[in-house]
Amino acid sequence: MTRVLVTRPLPERVLEAARAQFDLEVRESTAPMDGTEMRAALALYDGVLPTLGDRFSEEVFAEVETPRCRILANFGVGYNHIDVAAARARGVTVTNTPGAVTDATADIGMMLILTSCRRASEGERLLRAGAWEGWHPTQLLGLHVTGKRLGVVGFGRIGQAIARRAHLGFGMEIAYANRSEKQAEVPATRMALLDLAAWADVLVVALPGGAETRHMIGAEVFAAMPAHARFVNIARGDIVDEAALIDALRSGEIAGAGLDVYEREPEVPRALTEMEQVTLLPHLGTAALEVREAMGHMAVENLAAFFAGRAVPNTV
Ligand code: NAP
Repeated sequence: MTRVLVTRPLPERVLEAARAQFDLEVRESTAPMDGTEMRAALALYDGVLPTLGDRFSEEVFAEVETPRCRILANFGVGYNHIDVAAARARGVTVTNTPGAVTDATADIGMMLILTSCRRASEGERLLRAGAWEGWHPTQLLGLHVTGKRLGVVGFGRIGQAIARRAHLGFGMEIAYANRSEKQAEVPATRMALLDLAAWADVLVVALPGGAETRHMIGAEVFAAMPAHARFVNIARGDIVDEAALIDALRSGEIAGAGLDVYEREPEVPRALTEMEQVTLLPHLGTAALEVREAMGHMAVENLAAFFAGRAVPNTV
């Protein structure tokens, strides 16, 4: 029977579906695998179902030149932790789980837009600290969201799903920066990144991570943003130069931020946790049971198709 390693505990229904088809091993730790574990996984299993943090780099592949493993069926749409070229060079197919994550991640994007504009985290902290002295007309005044300008950087599935919510639900005007022109369901104008930064009241990032997009959002972008603007990142931490973001927040170059992802997760700089004008979530983009089940079933289906010799639906 085909041996498959699942590198983290997953929802039970997903494991049941996988057990019905494969000789399954589930790693119990919730932490990413280290190099030794990854090399063993490549050598001992026919397929691996890895996820965020399992860094299948060139160095890992280099020590297992002829892996037994023929497929890495990633749990998640983002696969910047896997060196796809290195995998391909050893005949290892890589798949991901697009689509399953779109709405949930867009919801978190919209939540961070609202939370950072309306200072909700700051308000909750004040209340929990027992420091709320009651309503008054000039307390915690934030940025009104309805009708404002939303700039979306990376206008793929998630970027467009955020735009739909923002436009249809909150009457926001939409513009985007993306390497190709897109036909979206809602009216949206394509702009160069710095023009978008200067135009938008809220700038949200929905790009893939990786070498191509690393630090694409840095000091220049923050300098172009208006002082009242908010910055939101639901994509990958390394797209943003975190030090430049901290400087921009500290100096008042931008008014606030809402972040779901960080450059060196799970490490979050103290400079960020100490600032009132930021909302910080622990990478919650897809954290809902039915979404994680859908992602898991998609990854298992990718494995099943691969080992049955069928066309593999989500090869990257
Ligand atoms: P997608 O549909 O592939 O969209 C990515 C968009 O970025 C595409 O429109 C693409 O343009 C654009 N793009 C890629 N590289 C670019 C570059 N160098 N310059 C300009 N634009 C570029 O992906 P998605 O499903 O929306 O997911 C986006 C990312 O969100 C994922 O890769 C993942 O890392 C992240 N994510 C985070 C969470 C979370 O938990 N916070 C959850 C899910 C996903 P083209 O159309 O021209 O290729």
